[in-house]
Amino acid sequence: MDRKMRKLFVLLLAAVLVLSACSGSGGAGGSGAGSSEAPDGGSTAPAFDLKDAIYEYGEQDSIIDNGASLYSYLLFPKTGEPEIDDEIRGWAESIYNSARDELDALRESDEDAEYEINVQYNSYLVKDTYAGIAEIEFSNNSGVAHPTDFYKTFNIDLKQKKLLDYEDIIDKEREGDVLDILTEMILEKYPDADVSAADASWLEHIVLNHEGIDVLIPRGVALATYLGPQEFSISYEALGAAYILDRSAASSGQDVPAGAAGIGGGKPPAAGASVIADPSKPMLALTFDDGPSPYTAQILDVLTKYGGNGTFCVVGNRVESFSDTARLITAQGSQIMGHSWDHKQLTKLSNEEIISELNETIRVINDATGVSPVMYRPPYGAVNDTLKAVSKDLGLSLVNWSVDTRDWESRNADAVYANIMKDARNGSIILCHDLYESTANAVARAIPELAAQGYQLVTVEELLRASGTPIEPGAVYFGK
Ligand code: ZN
Repeated sequence: MDRKMRKLFVLLLAAVLVLSACSGSGGAGGSGAGSSEAPDGGSTAPAFDLKDAIYEYGEQDSIIDNGASLYSYLLFPKTGEPEIDDEIRGWAESIYNSARDELDALRESDEDAEYEINVQYNSYLVKDTYAGIAEIEFSNNSGVAHPTDFYKTFNIDLKQKKLLDYEDIIDKEREGDVLDILTEMILEKYPDADVSAADASWLEHIVLNHEGIDVLIPRGVALATYLGPQEFSISYEALGAAYILDRSAASSGQDVPAGAAGIGGGKPPAAGASVIADPSKPMLALTFDDGPSPYTAQILDVLTKYGGNGTFCVVGNRVESFSDTARLITAQGSQIMGHSWDHKQLTKLSNEEIISELNETIRVINDATGVSPVMYRPPYGAVNDTLKAVSKDLGLSLVNWSVDTRDWESRNADAVYANIMKDARNGSIILCHDLYESTANAVARAIPELAAQGYQLVTVEELLRASGTPIEPGAVYFGK
């Protein structure tokens, strides 16, 4: 779908959603606060359905903007092949730029307009021959009543170093067979679904996976909007002759490479338990958001070397892919806490959605580390009274920051180092992101320097306790 079609589709979808909300029980209001109720009273399927993110192929690249009004968090892989990377990054940039444009347009009539854009992916490595990349785009803005979501897929022939077209994967002549399989699967899941309109557009987003292909169907295509986006896996066996890629690549089932996500694993956890802070000496808390990532272990190593600890605010859907790294965080004596399940702006979600974002994240952190954090950092630092009330009910406190290194913006180790050193003071909570190599390099220089200046590098919890600050559910902490 090109941009124009996509925009048209957004508008149509928004119209359908508004209509369905108006005819539903009470509607959800214009603040993007909720999701439409299913006619039978069931709850809406989650808008983001990639569950645990799977990173088997490519390095991670991102466009992240924590700036006011445009809240963006776009993740996509980098392959090292310039032509393919231009294509993938170009797609992500077009999403980001069009969000900017749409926000600018919204601001002409509403100066408080906001736009949230959230793009995440799964990448699959299929027998070292092919890679499949499934991106899901979620956007939520004050111009429409409900969030929207789309899929985009990229399939790569790793030997020939080129992107594959749909026709390289599926025999067009046998497309009807694939649609038959798909509609059967849909009916199995939703017996009342109307599949009479099934056509090739339902197969627009396919991604190669270990056992066959996944068919991703955006919200509102094929099924009623309230059922959300859909994913169906069709095996090579079921695809039969309709699958025309090299079959030998897929002959012996899945082969997920261990540690493919680039974990700096294998290292034994550092024995250093957390330092007992001396309240009479200066201290500060370095905090790292949006990981775990391949750079987390590097940061932990430097902390260990200088007898410090940090605080790592992890995105829930990444934890399973980086569970060794999550364990490394707690084993080093650093603090781990959640940063939502999929980096959505929590102030825009319903209470049920907030609870699920927070509880699911605690669950995976606990599964990986045995720790159940009682603090978390809200994405973008966005907080309102509803979020505080829900957090209080869940027994959770919120941690923001007093020093923003803006490392997501500069991606420059010198600038990040300079920002840390310029603003660090006794009691600071410093915001960094362990998603970037530039940040890991910056803190590798800042940590020895801060230690030399006499700072104790402590966790957020230690910082609060050392100053006698009570840690209360529903409260928001900023540091000095
Ligand atoms: Zn973040």
